[in-house]
Parts: sequence; C-alpha cells; structure tokens
Amino acid sequence: DPSLCAPLPVLGRDVVVPLVTGGEVSYAALDYAASAPALQRVWDDVAAYAPYYGSVHRGAGYLSQLSTDLFENSRAEVAAFLGCRPDDEVVFTRSTTDSLNLLAAVLPAHTQVFVFETEHHASLLPWERRADVSVHYLAAPRSPAEAVENLTRALAARGPADGPALVCVTGASNVTGELWPVAELTAAAHAHGARIVLDAAQLVPHRPVDVAGWDVDWVAFSGHKLYAPFGAGVLAGRADWLDGAEPYLAGGGASRTVARRADGGVEVEWHAGAARHEAGSPNVIGAYAIAAACRALTEYGFDTLVAREERLIERVRRGLAEVGQVRVLSLFGGGAPAVGVLSFVVEGWNSSHFAAALSAEYGIGVRDGLFCAHPLVRTLLGGAPQEPGECGAPDAGPGSLNAIRVSFGAGTPDEHVERFLGAVREL
Ligand code: PMP
Repeated sequence: DPSLCAPLPVLGRDVVVPLVTGGEVSYAALDYAASAPALQRVWDDVAAYAPYYGSVHRGAGYLSQLSTDLFENSRAEVAAFLGCRPDDEVVFTRSTTDSLNLLAAVLPAHTQVFVFETEHHASLLPWERRADVSVHYLAAPRSPAEAVENLTRALAARGPADGPALVCVTGASNVTGELWPVAELTAAAHAHGARIVLDAAQLVPHRPVDVAGWDVDWVAFSGHKLYAPFGAGVLAGRADWLDGAEPYLAGGGASRTVARRADGGVEVEWHAGAARHEAGSPNVIGAYAIAAACRALTEYGFDTLVAREERLIERVRRGLAEVGQVRVLSLFGGGAPAVGVLSFVVEGWNSSHFAAALSAEYGIGVRDGLFCAHPLVRTLLGGAPQEPGECGAPDAGPGSLNAIRVSFGAGTPDEHVERFLGAVREL
C-alpha cells in the first residue's frame, strides 16, 4: 500500500524546540505551504556539487565549464519534470513572485489580463503595474465548473479588436489546498484566443505537472516550496513573448554585443532564449537544487506521494470534523479534491493566539493570518471588506479576520499529524 510508505527524509527532523511549559519537543513543521523543509537528498546533492562550482557561461576553466553544463542540464531536467514542449523556455528566476512579475513585464502592449479575485497576491498584483495592460477580475467561483463558466463568460465578451489576452490561475490554492480545473480553464482560454499562465507554487510539490498535456502556456513555481532551499524559482513556457520583449533586467549575460554609437549612446544586441531574462551571475546552486528536487520526487514517485498525502489529508479532515468548534474553510465545498493545505478557524479563539499556542505548548509550526490572499480569505470568512493589513500579519483582537493554516507534504510523518490533532482537541 503506497499510502503507508515512509515519508521522505527532510532537514530539520531532529530539531528540538523549547516549550512554554519548560520541557522540549522535536519540531513539527506543518507550514509546508509557506516553505517546505529541504529534502536530505537535495542537500546531499548540493553538498556533493559545491566544491566544483564556478561561474557559468563565462569562465574558460574546467570548473566553469562543468558548472555551465550542470546549470544547463538543470534547465533540461526541470523542463522534463514539468512535461514541457520541445520549444519551451525554462527561465530561472528568484521565486514564483519573480516569475509572474517577469511575465507581466514581457506582456505585449494592450494585453487584457483575466484573473480570479481569489488568487494569491503574487498572481493578483503584478499585472496592474503595467499602465498599458488592462486587468479584469473574475468573481470567486463556488465550484470548479463555475470557475470555467466565469472565465468563459468574461472571455466571450471580448471584441475582435481587443488585442492579446492572458489568463492567470492557480493550480492549487495556498489557503484551502483545493485543486483548480487547469486543463478545462486552459481549453476555455484557448477557445477564446487567450493564453494562460499557471501559478503552480502549491501544485508542483504535490502533483505531477503536465505543461504539454494540459497545454498551459506558462507555469511558475518556487524552489523553496519544492523541497529545495530559498532563492530560485522557474518560469517555463512559450518563447515568443519572452523573446519579443525587452530583457527583464539589463546587464551582462543578457547582452550579446554592446558598442558605443557615433551619437554617443550605446547600441545593444540582446540574447534570445532564457539568457535574455537572466542578466547577472545566475543562482547556479539554486537551479541545481531545484533539479535535484525534481529528480528526488520523480524517483520516489508521485503515485506514492499522492497516496500518502491523501491518507494524511483524510486523517486531518476527519480529526478536525470531530472537534465541534472547528470550521474548515472551503471555496468549492468540503471534501473537494485538494493538496495537503487546509485552513480553519476555531470558535472562541483568535487565530493568531491559537497558532501561538500550537507553537508554545506543542512545538507545532503552522501559519496564521490572511496568507497573502486577502480577498479570498475575507470571502471564506464572510467578513466585510477591511483595510488590507500587512501581508500575512496577524490581525490583533478577538473576532478579527484571520485563520490558521496547516500544511504538509512528502516529509511529514504521521506523528506530526497526530500531535496536531491532539493539540487542537486539547485547546
Ligand atoms: N502563489 C502561491 C499560490 C503561493 O502559495 C505562493 C507562496 N505563498 C506564491 C505564489 C509566492 O511564492 P514566493 O513567495 O516563493 O514568490
């Protein structure tokens, strides 16, 4: 039974933290949706490579050439992991946020962007910064089918002279964990001549991604949620908009030739391909670590990963349902297919205080707040619109609008889930 397979070894499993009661306990990391602990395998692979690293695309020395090969090979491994088409580009960025800002920067002028109001701020906000782009916010759907209907209706209202269109949608919610109907939304987008970018930050660690099969135009994700360390992310997909725009950053690596012009200025010829948007010395270790994570998850197998995770999700859902005062947040209705991310509120408790008690009394790390998805969390809590607080900052005071999020993945042992459920019951 693959659901009973052992969790993958991750860093931090032996970390012991103090309790307010005076004792100490091994730390239970249940905030994978923010950042997952690095896989031991990834750490070992990076450590084995570290003595050999050198500058890429620049040095004449052996280690520079070796590093260039490993960096470019990492790109190819990521492309294979995502199921990319042969002509797709894989650009290494800093994070999902960076990837989506890069895509916003390369949109053709007068693009219409369609985005659900329920998105994470990284998917919601980059588009407005382009003065020559219009943004159309779609209402929160109450089922996957309604998401497709809302999008289809909005796209059908476009006129023939309306210019290019881009749909931005999340693969799995960072608040409810619920899966969005990616293939159906992509078909709807393409049927109306729009392109689509998938925010896969929460999807990639939990489900196989199939860029070519789903036919999504771009996919964005972060290494630190995929069991690699911080600092590197990916934007993968169609080359034409990327190659047709000015480089995201100007500098070395993106420029093929630079010469002084007779009129006193400089003439620049920019590279095409991924290098165009990777100016400066790239994060080679970060890219290598993402590729190592892709290898590790592929070897473990998504069948096993999904089976294990579904058993844990079911356990958490059932355990929380047994506690009468807990309300689990759901956009698509309780029991909808989801990854290992779940948010809830507890009657009579301020969510920030509850999360603090889980940490101080039980050594359990969860997150509280609005999870950088303020409009969605307000909809789920049924609250009146408020002034936005700082992203993720707990709103003080009883009755305030915030929630508690528990999230887990490939490295989560059953004991962490049981300790969490026991703590919720006791509190
Ligand atoms: N999209 C989603 C769905 C996320 O959950 C997150 C991280 N919480 C992001 C985007 C942004 O990722 P990062 O902070 O790594 O840029």
